[in-house]
Amino acid sequence: MTNTAWTNFRELILVDKVPVCPGITSFYFKAKDGGKLVKHTPGQFLPFKIKTNDPKYKDVLRTYSLSMFPNEYTYRISVKKIEGGLISPYLHENLKIGDSIEAMVPTGLFTIKNKTNDTVLISGGIGITPLLSMLYAESSTRNNIHFIQAVQNSSVHPFKEDIENIANLSGIKNTVFYSSPLAEDKESVDYNYKGYISKEFLKENINLNSDFYLCGPPPFMKSVESHLLELGVNKANIYYELFSS
Ligand SMILES: Cc1cc2nc3c(=O)[nH]c(=O)nc-3n(C[C@H](O)[C@H](O)[C@H](O)COP(=O)(O)OP(=O)(O)OC[C@H]3O[C@@H](n4cnc5c(N)ncnc54)[C@H](O)[C@@H]3O)c2cc1C
Repeated sequence: MTNTAWTNFRELILVDKVPVCPGITSFYFKAKDGGKLVKHTPGQFLPFKIKTNDPKYKDVLRTYSLSMFPNEYTYRISVKKIEGGLISPYLHENLKIGDSIEAMVPTGLFTIKNKTNDTVLISGGIGITPLLSMLYAESSTRNNIHFIQAVQNSSVHPFKEDIENIANLSGIKNTVFYSSPLAEDKESVDYNYKGYISKEFLKENINLNSDFYLCGPPPFMKSVESHLLELGVNKANIYYELFSS
């Protein structure tokens, strides 16, 4: 079997389904033909449709960022269930191990542009997925990376342990913002800062000559980008991915 890029659609089978935190589940896929997959470039996404005869879902295409270390054997996507949405609830509630999707080759331009520059990866909520893949890959060869994660609180804090382990092993910096900590959430243990990512925080803690990669809800990205531009960061050094279709 070949690992060269395929054309059109290829059948992938769901081999595992793992809850990450309430509302977010990871889905693991392998090629149905047993062949190797294309190793994605971190930050890229997988476009696919559900393999079904149900006209409601048939031929509906969605894209999900690959959230794992690049490899030729298993793809992982991590999906937030959107109430009122079509495909994300289907994945959470209906897609079972052994079911198929029809996937295109991973694609996308939201990838690390310079592998030597200081790099700041800033995520809000489910926007962590492409940045986590970048973190897995980049932290294996360098540690001039600052990973900044903004979520509501510990009840919806995806991949906390993974990121802490990477930070401990590689020496990358890891900063967590909780916008509304729960009563039991402890500052300096569960999170570093309360509230939103502020201009003051960026000014005092970040090398502003870094490359910045942003992914999260549009208001979050707009706010972080404005802070960076006001602090004099070159717009050409800010890269972002929007999750809107
Ligand atoms: C490059 C890229 C990467 C992405 N990566 C991820 C990822 O890693 N993880 C992830 O969870 N998501 C990711 N997304 C988002 C994902 O592709 C879907 O957009 C998301 O899951 C919603 O799809 P859905 O089919 O569930 O909802 P949709 O059916 O597309 O609905 C989306 C929203 O529109 C509303 N809506 C639906 N129908 C109507 C209507 N008739 N009138 C008014 N409102 C309506 C819904 O209530 C919902 O709020 C990514 C998107 C892009 C573009």
